[in-house]
Amino acid sequence: MSVSMYNIIEKKINKETLTREELDYFVTGMCAGEIPDYQTSALIMAIFLNGMGDQEITDLTLAMLHSGEQMDLSAIPGIKVDKHSTGGIGDTTTLVLTPLVASCGGKVAKMSGRGLGVATGTVDKLESIPGFRTALSSEEFISNVNSIGISLVGQTKNIAPADKKMYAIRDVTATAKSLPLIASSIMSKKLASGADKFVLDVKVGTGALVQKYEDGIKLAKLMCRIGQLSGHETVCYITNMNRPLGRNVGHLLEVQEAVATLRGDGAEDVDELCVRLAAEMLSLAEIDTFENCKQKAQEALKSGAALKKFKQLVERQGGMFEAIENPALYYEKPCVYSVKAPASGYINILRAEDIGRATAVLGAARKTKDAPIDFQAGLSFTKRYSEYVKAGEELCRLYSKDDAHMAEAEALVLHTVELKKEAFVPEPLIFEVVR
Ligand code: URA
Ligand code: CA
Repeated sequence: MSVSMYNIIEKKINKETLTREELDYFVTGMCAGEIPDYQTSALIMAIFLNGMGDQEITDLTLAMLHSGEQMDLSAIPGIKVDKHSTGGIGDTTTLVLTPLVASCGGKVAKMSGRGLGVATGTVDKLESIPGFRTALSSEEFISNVNSIGISLVGQTKNIAPADKKMYAIRDVTATAKSLPLIASSIMSKKLASGADKFVLDVKVGTGALVQKYEDGIKLAKLMCRIGQLSGHETVCYITNMNRPLGRNVGHLLEVQEAVATLRGDGAEDVDELCVRLAAEMLSLAEIDTFENCKQKAQEALKSGAALKKFKQLVERQGGMFEAIENPALYYEKPCVYSVKAPASGYINILRAEDIGRATAVLGAARKTKDAPIDFQAGLSFTKRYSEYVKAGEELCRLYSKDDAHMAEAEALVLHTVELKKEAFVPEPLIFEVVR
């Protein structure tokens, strides 16, 4: 039987395995505009309902990878390890982790994304530093990695265009949460990044795309398997996104949090996650054993070497480092609003996504695809998850360009903060490591 979209969809409806040729036919035709969106949607729905096998997911991932260009990092000596997070609220990790790894001798050539929904993106955070250029030519990107060990950019090439199409369709057909489709989406982009090995931070919880722990484990296993089948060692950390990471959520606020962490003044959770992931990246790059790399990372935070590396990165890419600590030099003063605890108790966060929503309301998310972001907007916790707060004490501060949305954001925060009478054991931050 000749290959046709009709037959491909019918096979998936009947829970049969699609071949490499069929998946190539689908991806190529979709990208060429020869397959109408209704057939793409029908196949995506059939995959959502009936799943895919490991080899099938790998074949889909490779077809998506080959729909666009790939970075060539061969001019950078050594093993290149890339990191990716599936996205969460206040996830400042990349801003701390990457200079930390570079200051310990790792090579960091990283392409990051912009915000999606209420989750903020690294590229947007970097652009909150006045002057910071995230669009570099491939030559400048590679030359920066070779001279200072690090460069962070937005996607410079036409990376996995098949993913862009499929993601847009998943987004509006209630099929975003399909594990095979998430795995192929992430891994096609990672493989295109040109790195040799990957460390993936799979967030699970109320502020993540994947809410259930078991689904996080399944997703991690799928991505490790795709990595293995395509010859790229992949390690997944399953981490807690039932609460935002660290104190700050926003853009400039998260850059400030990153600098505080690099200075040794960070929240414990950001510190813990960044040291663990740095040690993983460095040991995968065969710099040293995991334990020795962990020690190196801790020392680089203590000695100021990691902070110095971040400053070097910012300056090399044109950013004004002094703006991070003194935004008033470059920005108008934002409005600041203090949210007070309505009662005494130990702080629990019911839904991390609501904290993301509150920051979006304050201006920290795009309202339309190309709308500007208020870089100073966001939220900073004064008291954190599991800490005790007295009635009337400050819980957090809200930042926005005016006070138009403070009441709405405050309501969202207070609705999702539960003040428990009894102290409780905090949930762990790192649930599991899958390799
Ligand atoms: N991140 C991605 O890049 N793709 C997904 O499908 C989900 C998270
Ligand atoms: Ca944070």
